[in-house]
Amino acid sequence: MAGPVVFAGSQRLEWRRDELEMHAFHLDVPEGVDDITVEFQYAVRPGDAILGPDLVAVQWQRLLLYPAGWYASNIPVQASVRLPSGLHAVSSLHAEEASDGSVRYAVTTLDTLLDAPAIAARHVRSYDLGLAGQPAFRLSLLSDSGETPELSDRDAADMRRMMRETHAVFGRAPYERFEALVILSDAFPPGGIEHTDSAEIYLPADYFRNRSRQLNNLDLIVHEHVHAWNGRFRVPVGQWTPTPNTPIRNGMLWSYEGQTEFWGRVLAARSGLRSQQETLDKLALDAATVQAMNGRAWKPLRDTTNDPLYMSSRAAVWPEWQRRKDYYTEGVLLWLEVDMMLREGSGDRYGLDDLAAAFYSAELGPGPHTYTFDDLCAALHRLLPIDWSKHLDERLDTHVPLVLGGLGRAGWELVYDEQPTATFLQNEAEMGGYDVRHSIGMVVDAHGRVQSVTWEGPAFRAGIGPGAVVEAINGEAFSREALLRAIARSVDEPVALRINQGAYRSDLEIDYDRGARYPHLRRMSGRPDRLAQLLNSRSP
Ligand SMILES: [Zn+2]
Repeated sequence: MAGPVVFAGSQRLEWRRDELEMHAFHLDVPEGVDDITVEFQYAVRPGDAILGPDLVAVQWQRLLLYPAGWYASNIPVQASVRLPSGLHAVSSLHAEEASDGSVRYAVTTLDTLLDAPAIAARHVRSYDLGLAGQPAFRLSLLSDSGETPELSDRDAADMRRMMRETHAVFGRAPYERFEALVILSDAFPPGGIEHTDSAEIYLPADYFRNRSRQLNNLDLIVHEHVHAWNGRFRVPVGQWTPTPNTPIRNGMLWSYEGQTEFWGRVLAARSGLRSQQETLDKLALDAATVQAMNGRAWKPLRDTTNDPLYMSSRAAVWPEWQRRKDYYTEGVLLWLEVDMMLREGSGDRYGLDDLAAAFYSAELGPGPHTYTFDDLCAALHRLLPIDWSKHLDERLDTHVPLVLGGLGRAGWELVYDEQPTATFLQNEAEMGGYDVRHSIGMVVDAHGRVQSVTWEGPAFRAGIGPGAVVEAINGEAFSREALLRAIARSVDEPVALRINQGAYRSDLEIDYDRGARYPHLRRMSGRPDRLAQLLNSRSP
């Protein structure tokens, strides 16, 4: 933000920045003045995809100043936006007046505005996917490429099944109408941002055209929709604030994000967005990732919920040791275990479906409704009277991956063999490197540069660190094939690498002899397949 100038009528008022809060400005408003004007600019970095000729993401929090110290729900605000000609804006805000390139939104409150971005694109196609008897749900495809995006009949049918399966779990939607803003663009990394009445969902440009390359992202749309219940309608008490400048406490993200991620996996399977095998492969990848996080030795799952506040947008040099937002992936396993405990303990009468139907029920009346850890434990206790607080605390503070036990309760186990799954390969492609973490313990890019090394893994013990360049493997120049061949043959011969670590070159051997290792799930004989029970469709 630059260039702020404040006027009371024609009189310029000087401001002074707060010494501690760099986003706050103090100014003295003269007696009798009830109207001030603030002019400023938001400086976009070159190449920032939020402002392009064919796509504009209007995220209001970057674009406004407001009187501090008042409930955001009591500050009325009216926004308008002028766009490059030919762009069409979509938002959950009510557009009062719209002409080519210009939109004025109805008066709303500051909290609503901040939670309702407008995305404008040259090519927009909207689909009404709301179910009969449910609030409206509109999915808009916004594209910055040369053509208008479209849902095929198959994709539209998939999306409708996804809606039916979601409502079968959560019941009535807590919103009046919902705008799913699906931005199909290669200018953003895949990901989503949830809002009360909308969601921003960033997906690759070919998401609907090239399904085989999307195996990792197939539950992103349903994940963001589930947040309408888990996260926006029911909010962990530390994450609700009266004003946008009040710090939030993220200690419940393993519930807010972890359970939402769990439902993403489950609902993608129930609605056929992922096949049964693709779901097993995704869960195998989740479980292997959890197992690889040896930073748990010092950093329990609970502490990873602080990541967004102090690690955001910083690269982790030792990702398994430093741990990042593990409450997503480990959350999937944590909630899978809870679901399986409910099934076992209730003679297959209850599962997490029953928690979701009760705890996130729109019958609670207009939200948001905050909840505490104890509220969540009490809701679980009503389904199965055990000490949930002790159980969850153990999972959150443990130094061993206890959550993997949920797979066994589901009748499945994590195993490794020499064949990568399609899901694994796609995840690897998104990492931009060759993922041999589960064998020699590192990730290497196409040029042989080591992206990360597993702390105390085989490569680590051989003396390899992030940033080193693998020049040769067993006497051959570096290539993916040479790397994988050497690992596969490690059962019989050592993995010998020539490494360039900046100041020096060295020849070293990795002490490893277990061959290629890629994660899979395998059925355990003699145990009921409760995973199949969980993943079965709930809607006719
Ligand atoms: Zn989320």
